[in-house]
Amino acid sequence: MFATAFLDIPALQGASGTVTLPGSKSISNRVLLLSALCQGTTVVHDLLDSDDTQVMLAALRQLGCGVQVEGTTVTIKGLGEQLSHPEAITFFMGNAGTAMRPLTAALSVMGGDFTLQGVPRMHERPIGDLVDALRELGCRIDYLGNEGFPPLHIGQPDLKLDAPIPVRGDVSSQFLTALLMALPLAAQDRSITIEVVGELISKPYIEITLNLLARFGIDVERHGWARFVIPAGSRFQSPGTIHVEADASSASYFIALGAIAQGDGIRVNGVGADSIQGDIRFVEATERMGAKVTSGPNWLQISRGAWPLKGIELDCNHIPDAAMTLAVMALYADGPTLLRNIASWRVKETDRIVAMAAECRKLGATVEEGPDWLRVHPLPNGPFTPPAAKGQWQAASIHTYDDHRVAMCFSLAAFNAAKLPVRIEDPKCVAKTFPDYFEALFSVAAAEATQIPVICIDGPTASGKGTLASRVAAQLGYHYLDSGALYRVTAHAALQAGLSLEAADESRIAELARQLPVHFEGEQVLLGGEDVTDAIRSEQGGMNASKVSVLPAVREALVQLQHSFRRLPGLLADGRDMGTVIFPNASLKVFLTASAAQRAERRHKQLISKGFSANIDSLRADLEARDARDMSRSVAPLKPAQDALQLDNSSLTIEASVERVMVWWQSRQVFS
Ligand code: C5P
Repeated sequence: MFATAFLDIPALQGASGTVTLPGSKSISNRVLLLSALCQGTTVVHDLLDSDDTQVMLAALRQLGCGVQVEGTTVTIKGLGEQLSHPEAITFFMGNAGTAMRPLTAALSVMGGDFTLQGVPRMHERPIGDLVDALRELGCRIDYLGNEGFPPLHIGQPDLKLDAPIPVRGDVSSQFLTALLMALPLAAQDRSITIEVVGELISKPYIEITLNLLARFGIDVERHGWARFVIPAGSRFQSPGTIHVEADASSASYFIALGAIAQGDGIRVNGVGADSIQGDIRFVEATERMGAKVTSGPNWLQISRGAWPLKGIELDCNHIPDAAMTLAVMALYADGPTLLRNIASWRVKETDRIVAMAAECRKLGATVEEGPDWLRVHPLPNGPFTPPAAKGQWQAASIHTYDDHRVAMCFSLAAFNAAKLPVRIEDPKCVAKTFPDYFEALFSVAAAEATQIPVICIDGPTASGKGTLASRVAAQLGYHYLDSGALYRVTAHAALQAGLSLEAADESRIAELARQLPVHFEGEQVLLGGEDVTDAIRSEQGGMNASKVSVLPAVREALVQLQHSFRRLPGLLADGRDMGTVIFPNASLKVFLTASAAQRAERRHKQLISKGFSANIDSLRADLEARDARDMSRSVAPLKPAQDALQLDNSSLTIEASVERVMVWWQSRQVFS
C-alpha cells in the first residue's frame, strides 16, 4: 500500500497482463455478519482485508464470536443462541458504512447496551431512515450527537413485528439490506414483512443480500421490489464454507484500463459476467463505449475496441459505484457522456457528484452537473482528437476526499495524450476496498522509460546518501536502488568464487556481475537466497567494492541491472555515478557531501550501533583513501553531474536534508 502523502503517476502508455482482484467489500462484510449470527462455524475464503472488514471483525470479536484469521481465510464461530449481552460495549465503526448499518440493525434487534461511533465523516452520513424503521418495530435507539446521524446508543427492544415494517428505498439500499439481515433473528415464530416506501435504488445490492441470505438458510420471499417477507421459522444456518467473489466495482478500473490502454488487453480474475453483483453490468456500459470484452466463470478479458471511446448517455441507477469510472472514461470519448440517476452519489464517502466534477475540471475537462446527473466532455486524444473535445489536458493534483473510488478512478487519467503525470493525494484511502490497487495498476501498466522519474543522490562514502535516498523514496512511494550494494555484492561474490579483485580477473568478475542473483528485501541483501547483508556492509566490504568498481568491464556489466530498477512509479538511486552515467536524464540530481570529519564520525556511530568495533581515525583514513580512488578512476569517477544540486549536510539533520530534497523535487513538478 502507498502510505505517502501523494502518489505521482507518470504518463502511462499501455497495459497488458492479468490482475487478480481482492474479495468484494459488500460481500465480505455481509458474509462476516451472517457467519456471526448463525449457529456453527463458517470458513470464509478470499475475504477482503480492508478497513471496512477490519472494523467488522473487531466488532464481532467484541460480541464474543470466535474469529481466526489466516491470510484471506477467516474462520468464524457463530454466536448461535447466545445473543444476549449484559455488559456495555462501545464499537468503533471508523467510516465503514457496510459495517455500521447492518450492525446497527442486528444489534438493535438483539438488544443490549451498545454504543456505535465512528470518524467525523461517519457522523455526517445519514442513518435516520434505518433508525426510524427500527424504532417502528420496537427497537430502542438514541442519537448521541445530531438527530439522524451516528453516534448511536442501542438498548433493549420491545419488538412489535405484526404490521409490515416500512423502510425508505430511495436513500440508501444499505438500510434495506440491514433490515433483511437482522430480522430473521426475530422470525422464529412469525413471518415478518418489510415494505419499501418510494422507488428502491441500487437494487443489485439487494440481490446480493438475498442471494447471500439464501446461502445462510434464509429464503426471503420477494414481491417485486416493494415487499419482502421473511418466513416464520427462519433460522441462520452456516453454509460451512463460502467464497467471497471479487468486487465488481473494483474490477471497473481494470475493465476501463483495458478499454483505454493500448496493448494485449487485460485479464481480470475473481469476477466474471455471471457475477451476483449488479456492478458487473458496468461491462455493458464499457462495451457501449467501445471496449471489447469476453468472459468466463470468474474472469473477464478486456481490450481496446473503438478509439476514441464513444460518448454515451446512461441511467446509472443499477451501477452507482462503477459509474464513477465512466466519468473518467468519458475524457477519452468522441463526445460528451451523460450519467443520469446518480443522486445516491451525494451521500457516499463524499458528495461524489461534486468531487468527480471538480477533479475532472482540474484535468482540463468541461463538466456540467445537476442534482442527480453529470455530463463530462472529452479532452483531446492525440491523433484521434474528436471535434467535440473541449479544452486541453492539464497536470492535476487530484484531491481524493477520503474516497477510495475517487483515487482509483483518476489514476486512469494518466493515459492522457498530453503525456502529463497525475498526482493522487492521500493514495492510501484506497485501503477501504483495495489496499494494493496501485501496485496492481503498476503491475500491468507500462510507461516509456523516460517518463518514469528518477532522482539521483550521488556523493562520497558515508555522506548519508543511503539514508537520505531511502527516506525520500519512502515519502514518494518510489523504488530505491542502492548501487553501492551492487558493487559490494559483486566483490563478495568474486571473493567467494576464489577470484582476486584486481584487473587480472576483470572479465571473470564482470561475468559474475552480469548474472548477479541479487535480491533486496527491505534492508536485507540476498545473494542467491543467502543473506549477505552483514558481510557486505563492513568497512572491508566497502574497500572491496571500491576495488572492483574501478574495473570498466565490471561497471559496464552492472548497467543493465541498475536500469532495471527504473520502474513505476519512480526511482531513487544513490551511488557515485547515478547522475553522470547511469541516469543522465534524471529529473533531479543531488550531490551530497559532508566534511571528512563528520562522515568518519557518522560511519563510526553506524558501525558501533551494529556491534562492529571501529576507530575514528582509521575510518577517516579509509574513507579518504576510498574517495581518492573513486575520484581518480578512469571510468565514471566520483564527481557531481553538471546539472546536480549540491547539498552539504555536515550540519543538517536527516529530516532537514529530506525536506530540502523534497522542496527541490516539488518545485520541478508540473501540478497546479
Ligand atoms: O556507497 P557504498 O559505500 O556502498 O559504495 C561502495 C563502493 O562502491 C564505493 O566506495 C565505490 O567505490 C563503489 N561505487 C561505485 N559506483 C556507485 C556506487 C558505489 O563505484 N554507483
